[in-house]
Amino acid sequence: MPYRFVCSDDHCAFLVHSSSTDEVERLVRAHVRMAHGGRIDPADLERGIEHIEPA
Ligand SMILES: [Zn+2]
Repeated sequence: MPYRFVCSDDHCAFLVHSSSTDEVERLVRAHVRMAHGGRIDPADLERGIEHIEPA
């Protein structure tokens, strides 16, 4: 699960891990729509995805 995204909303603890960026993007968009009633800027989404190096 090398990709991670943490929601930037201060009061939100949403965190997602996935093996693919496509999956992360899909889950984040769904989260933002359902939890925050909006949409995330594609640039913010791309910036927010962290690639975790294997230990
Ligand atoms: Zn959130």
